[in-house]
Amino acid sequence: MKKIKLVDLNKQYYFHKKSIDKSINQVIKDSDFINGKSVKKFEAKFRSKLNSKYCITTNNGTDSLFIAMKSLNLKRGQEVITSAHSWISSSSTITQAGGVPVFCDTDPDTFNIDINQLKKKINAKTAGIIAVHLYGQPCDILNIINLAKKKKIWVIEDCAQAHFAKFKNKYTGTFGDIGCFSFFPSKNLGAYGDAGALITNNSKLYKKAYLISKHGGFKKNEHLIEGINSRMDSIQGAVLGFKLKHIKMFNQKRVKIANLYNKLLRGIGDIKTPLLKKNRDHVFHLYVIKTKKRNKLKKYLSKNNILSAIHYPKCLPMLPAYAKYKYKKTEFKNSYKNQKEILSLPIYPELEHSKVKFICKKIREFFY
Ligand SMILES: *Cc1c(COP(=O)(O)O)cnc(C)c1O
Repeated sequence: MKKIKLVDLNKQYYFHKKSIDKSINQVIKDSDFINGKSVKKFEAKFRSKLNSKYCITTNNGTDSLFIAMKSLNLKRGQEVITSAHSWISSSSTITQAGGVPVFCDTDPDTFNIDINQLKKKINAKTAGIIAVHLYGQPCDILNIINLAKKKKIWVIEDCAQAHFAKFKNKYTGTFGDIGCFSFFPSKNLGAYGDAGALITNNSKLYKKAYLISKHGGFKKNEHLIEGINSRMDSIQGAVLGFKLKHIKMFNQKRVKIANLYNKLLRGIGDIKTPLLKKNRDHVFHLYVIKTKKRNKLKKYLSKNNILSAIHYPKCLPMLPAYAKYKYKKTEFKNSYKNQKEILSLPIYPELEHSKVKFICKKIREFFY
């Protein structure tokens, strides 16, 4: 039997091969390789679809976060609060932009930042918050925004896993000062290489972020400041421009798969299926269950040709990169506990429902 992969990008490519090949070829024929026509078109469509005023494409999602913090004028030594449970870009960019990362524990069930813990972390040195919408479920963004307003600090949304997810019918990325996106190939909206973007409604932030990302100039050779080189390749713009037309359908298919998993996994062993909070449209970048038998289940699935993964094996404060801060596990109780129980099951828009049923059958076998 062929392995069931966690994500299979090939299916989508072969399904849309003609259109995708054509748009890539056009870029090559035009020798329009970097920040070209396809990129400009994508930027315009992406921001209008999200109902945001400005969009700047970048080289990757990590750059987007770095550029966002630089645009917000983060000062050396200022603190930025982020989630203890995320991909390292959510914290490494804080250090790289000159700040100090401060980790906040997560809600035990949604894996997103816990608002009560967050309140305790804000002090006179806090410049802002990086609010991550993990796995595709919006975090408690309205409460976070209200808290930030009261404390006069900024909010950057890390939407790398939450393209077109909604909170109270408004898209993630449009609540904070800046919304950051990654188009890493396996993300809900994925390029064929590295790519990213940021969106904002603030014209000053837009101009600043534009300068920082494009060598400090609006025009060639006119460098107003020292910027970095973070542009999107036009081949990525072409691929993303095509995929953007279908993003809502892709997300709907993920939700259907998640619903099927929820139904078939209910009541099996000690499995906890993803908890959906009120007012949110989850886009299921990942489908993550919890079980105390995680490691054994993962092995059992692998023996049965089903690949699963752990996002992420260690919560951020426990990584060697942060050993110097000497954090205690007890400071991040929920994130630390979850890192031992979480398991991501295969999900991508083209995953056949028969395969989901097979996966759930094997999980049932494991527990009985
Ligand atoms: C993927 C990801 C990023 C980084 O995006 P890249 O494009 O890989 O640089 C940042 N934050 C989160 C939560 C991510 O999942």
